[in-house]
Amino acid sequence: MTPLGRLAPTPSGMLHLGNARSFLLAWLWARGNVLLRIEDIDKPRCKPEFTKAALQDMNWLALQRARTRSANDGLPDDAIQSSRTDLYRKHLESLAQQGQAYPCTCTRRDIDEASSAPHFDEGPIYPGTCRGKWRDAMHAKANTGREPAWRFLWQGPPVVFHDELRGHLTVDPSTLGDFVLWRRDDLPSYQLAVGVDDALQGITQVLRGRDLLLSTARQIAIQRALGLPSPAQWAHVPFIQDAMGRRMAKRDGDLSLKSLREQGADARRVTGFLAWSAGLIDKPEPATANELVGEFNLRKLSREDFVLRDRHLGWLLHGSAM
Ligand code: GLU
Ligand code: ZN
Repeated sequence: MTPLGRLAPTPSGMLHLGNARSFLLAWLWARGNVLLRIEDIDKPRCKPEFTKAALQDMNWLALQRARTRSANDGLPDDAIQSSRTDLYRKHLESLAQQGQAYPCTCTRRDIDEASSAPHFDEGPIYPGTCRGKWRDAMHAKANTGREPAWRFLWQGPPVVFHDELRGHLTVDPSTLGDFVLWRRDDLPSYQLAVGVDDALQGITQVLRGRDLLLSTARQIAIQRALGLPSPAQWAHVPFIQDAMGRRMAKRDGDLSLKSLREQGADARRVTGFLAWSAGLIDKPEPATANELVGEFNLRKLSREDFVLRDRHLGWLLHGSAM
């Protein structure tokens, strides 16, 4: 089977070097056989101008997408999550019919107060307050006056998967709790949209930031409950940190790809640098993604975050010594 990966930017800001590195690695692992998916379901945070900018950035870095290689920047509808809401809703409904999803009227505060459990990647663990409490969304709303969210009723055996960098992981449902499938503001959750898309789009390998390691268990659980296939391979890669030791974020405007481009950085330098910082090549040298395909090897990938220093930026922007 030909591997199929994906590049899945969230257009809530400009892409930065950290995003670019994850995309480059995902692209190299799949030898360019990737789908592009714009993850813009969080409507309050996403803007079309950021989608446009993300496409420009990926073209600049020559991360051409298999699907849209011949087209201009027009994206097929199925590449844009916000145009697939009905599809996600249909899957929510089948989960609800099977008793695998239930309405939840808890506020953030209710959950904070009820939960003494440790916080995980998505915040406090939901204590299950609304499990079995409401017949349906109408019942929930009539009794509380609140529009409910929908949660995944997560029980049963642990989810076991293999991460190419971290080895075997066993995640017991109770450690993460019932997570949100559909938000109170009537939008699908990230977990549902990605779980459905990875399965329906036939994605075989997922490479993304290490912050999403535990979400893999949630997404596999959704896929199982829906009787859908899961990607066969997973790799959760380290971050690039800024000089303050913080994960690079969209607030670091100066380190956005657009800003680097405008400051005169050369795309081949950026890709070569990213490949070096990830452990794929011994010294930083300008190279295109295509030229780097042969260098990719999961075993070479660094397990540590990379701290970006001024000297690195000097090399990227002016070719000065590091
Ligand atoms: N859209 C997510 C992000 O930009 C990535 C999601 C994923 O790879 O599953 O952080
Ligand atoms: Zn609840």
